[in-house]
Amino acid sequence: MECVWTRNGSRCGEAASRRCDRCRAVGYCSLSHQVSHRSIHKIECDRFRRQMNRADVLSDFPFTFYVEPSKVQVVSFEKRCSFLARHGVHGLGMWICECSCGSSLINFDTISFIPDWLLSSELCPCNEPSISLQGRLSSWKDYCEWRHLPLSSPAAVILHWPLTVYWAIQLATGCNLLPEIKNELRIHYLGPEKELLQLAAFGELQALFPGVRIYIDFVGPAIPDRRSDERIDLHSYALCNDTACRCKTEMVSKSQAVRMQLHAGFYHDRYGEFSK
Ligand SMILES: [Zn+2]
Ligand SMILES: [Zn+2]
Ligand SMILES: [Zn+2]
Ligand SMILES: [Zn+2]
Ligand SMILES: [Zn+2]
Repeated sequence: MECVWTRNGSRCGEAASRRCDRCRAVGYCSLSHQVSHRSIHKIECDRFRRQMNRADVLSDFPFTFYVEPSKVQVVSFEKRCSFLARHGVHGLGMWICECSCGSSLINFDTISFIPDWLLSSELCPCNEPSISLQGRLSSWKDYCEWRHLPLSSPAAVILHWPLTVYWAIQLATGCNLLPEIKNELRIHYLGPEKELLQLAAFGELQALFPGVRIYIDFVGPAIPDRRSDERIDLHSYALCNDTACRCKTEMVSKSQAVRMQLHAGFYHDRYGEFSK
């Protein structure tokens, strides 16, 4: 944890040796930085404390890092190269950071939006679901059956992100941390890294929350300054690689688009801009 103290836009960043006693969510290098940050922190401290109190609930996800989908996918990060190569996606597009050889090479500064899965339509969700979601999904098995995907699809590696968002929201509404979702959902997504290559996969939230307008603010230091404040409206799902598939021509209605915006920097510093 790093000291969150800031002055004139520059951040202390020293290793934190103490935390806020109330929320336990932010750290400081010294008492003096904690004291001089108090006027800023007191605005957010209560909210952080409520969230930290439920950290046990929120960490209890069935959609954890694809332990479930299949034996094939329970491969160590190092062995994933051959798994990805078998599906023809090794070192490509959204998949660059999904094995150990790609992660170190990637420079987020040069990456722009990647629209496609590079998989055939049987292996990825590229269209509206044939049946709109009824009830609640509680496992990968439920999800794959509903979306007609094999449990062995590598897409699960990336769908892990939107499904984790889905599940976090299910839990938060279930224990009244959030009000019932009506027609709009605003998500603050903190600290994205390789997700920046995989933003198209968040289009799946259209299927997971039918009829809900979704806004996601991505905030984190891995977002390059060059892309800060970039807006991305997803009017389709991430595309498959079958040239004749209807995902190439069908757009979801405008009101259903997932609207995303990127913000470079730390949540503490940027929060005020998009929480209005
Ligand atoms: Zn400090
Ligand atoms: Zn606090
Ligand atoms: Zn590799
Ligand atoms: Zn911004
Ligand atoms: Zn398709």
